[in-house]
Amino acid sequence: MANFKSLRAPDDFIVAGLAKPVAAGDLAAVTARYAVAMTPALAALVDRSDPRDPIALQFVPDIRELNVTPEEREDPIGDHAHSPVTGIVHRHRDRVLFKPVSVCPVYCRFCFRREMVGPDKDGVLSVSEMNAALGYIRDHDEIWEVILTGGDPLMMSPRRIAEITDAIGVISHVKVIRWHTRMPVADPQRLSDEVCAALASRHGKAVYVAAHVNHARELSEAARTAFARLAGHGIGLLSQSVLLAGVNDNLEALADLMRALVSAGVKPYYLHHTDLAPGTSHFRVSVARGQALMQALRDNVSGLCVPTYVIDIPGGVSKANAALPDVQVDEAGLSLRGRDGIWRDYAVD
Ligand SMILES: *Cc1c(COP(=O)(O)O)cnc(C)c1O
Ligand code: SF4
Repeated sequence: MANFKSLRAPDDFIVAGLAKPVAAGDLAAVTARYAVAMTPALAALVDRSDPRDPIALQFVPDIRELNVTPEEREDPIGDHAHSPVTGIVHRHRDRVLFKPVSVCPVYCRFCFRREMVGPDKDGVLSVSEMNAALGYIRDHDEIWEVILTGGDPLMMSPRRIAEITDAIGVISHVKVIRWHTRMPVADPQRLSDEVCAALASRHGKAVYVAAHVNHARELSEAARTAFARLAGHGIGLLSQSVLLAGVNDNLEALADLMRALVSAGVKPYYLHHTDLAPGTSHFRVSVARGQALMQALRDNVSGLCVPTYVIDIPGGVSKANAALPDVQVDEAGLSLRGRDGIWRDYAVD
């Protein structure tokens, strides 16, 4: 539904002014290894005069992606270890991930599922796989929440989105449907009234959209309109961001991002430490740096603008809370850190 075609081939990036002709060979080498796509909506937001533009860095292939470090792994968050049927990941008792598609509108260069997403991967679940996945959710009455992810589940047609909403809607033990997506910033036009209506609650379920957004400039006028349209259909809005070197690894960029989200009606939910996906070391910052940034963020912005900083424990264990605590316990008792950075004893424990 985009007005123009997405950038996928090396030449597309060169013609769009996002890469130099001399980089054609590097672009081709990366494109041969990993899925590549950038939507016109995001390409339009790039400042061509800035060689380190934070939006370009997220989508334009980089030769450093071919450098795989020893600690990186194909399945950094361990999805495979917890998949009872195709398309379902059931790691935590009361909620499942449901992955109906493996394609995305864009391919982020730091993607944590980069070995599982792309146009050449499994594509869309077949009808029988879809029925088996829904059957699994129906048969497990401990499942309270279904998290649609992928790939990007909003790549599906409004008809298929509505079919899923309806099928989950009639499962009485499921109370919450959450859609993880890049679409509001990647291709905001696609969040038409028809798509929003397909997502909207029926049978009394709560519906949330958790949008993946990493830089304030991704929140274009069109993206803000898309969020407003979702909210108009009664959908709760959350965000997930990834802490990325060169994109948002400073207090100003993080504060701008979180404020832009909150002022677009979106509650920042998670800030993810970059996962150990192959060829992503140039995006990683240290955990200590991430903790210092989170602390500075907490000290400086509205509580609404503070996400939870998490790291996925490799092997599919769970996420770990990564923020520094404001509470310390030692022999002397309890002390609390104020937003002025000063620790004070607290009289009782
Ligand atoms: C992150 C994740 C979830 C959702 O976790 P929340 O903390 O509830 O957002 C569920 N299942 C898996 C496998 C996950 O990785
Ligand atoms: S939108 Fe998500 S799943 Fe798709 S490429 Fe980006 S990080 Fe990966």
